[in-house]
Amino acid sequence: MREVKVKTILNKHKKRDEWFLDDYSINPYYGCSFNCVYCYIKGSKYGREEFGIKINAPEILEKEIRIRARKREYGFIVISSSTEPYMPIEKDYKITRKLLKIIAKYRFPVNVATKSTLVLRDIDLLKEIDKNSILPKDLKGMRKAVVSFSISTLDEKLAKIVEPMAPPPSKRLETMKKCKEEGLFAGICYIPVLPFLSDSEEQIEEMVKIAKEYGADFVLIGGLTLNNAYYKFLEKHFPDLVPKYKELNQKAYLMKLEKLANELCRKYKIKNSLM
Ligand code: SF4
Repeated sequence: MREVKVKTILNKHKKRDEWFLDDYSINPYYGCSFNCVYCYIKGSKYGREEFGIKINAPEILEKEIRIRARKREYGFIVISSSTEPYMPIEKDYKITRKLLKIIAKYRFPVNVATKSTLVLRDIDLLKEIDKNSILPKDLKGMRKAVVSFSISTLDEKLAKIVEPMAPPPSKRLETMKKCKEEGLFAGICYIPVLPFLSDSEEQIEEMVKIAKEYGADFVLIGGLTLNNAYYKFLEKHFPDLVPKYKELNQKAYLMKLEKLANELCRKYKIKNSLM
């Protein structure tokens, strides 16, 4: 991994996504060592072959967020949208931790999206953010620090193939439970559900049920963005599925998934949104 200097770090989004509440996003690193086969940033303009540590990110954030705070442009900051904020390298560099300290100082709410156990190191800052931050006017009443754990399958063997370097799903569930025990607002993003691999009605119900048992505040369930890298993975590990994926009617598939997700979240009395 090489150290890089950036000119900007706080991305202001034109429109907030209702699911992730991303008024802003911050990516402390370029690339991601977890190397998930379905990663949507692969091949996109946000993806890079090489990794990079945005070494001056805290200094740049301080300048950018100060201006936003002065104008009272409060909004949720998603950490991260195109990298994992708690890759193993974070243990040494602590870029995410330094960014959270600045966010806490300027009182912005956050949504931390992770697959890592290392988030537990920053519970102190997340609690401070949850207590002291200022919400945008239209989100009054919400919690101010959200921790979202992304899971694509509960099958540990499959997870080892599709998310080779990420902590296993069981560890993510335990970490989420610890966040809950610490009083944080935390839940599961069952995203992306993998067609024919982790999307049967039974598998989705199992995810919602386990999320409930582990105390999750929410479960978000969403589909996959197909890309060439994912097709290469299919050809290598599940060649029989390639024609099935090619025949998939994406729109109808996503509608069916949404309907099932709504039904199951109602059945298990768990929210399927952050609000
Ligand atoms: S953890 Fe997230 S950013 Fe990293 S490879 Fe996986 S999907 Fe991509």
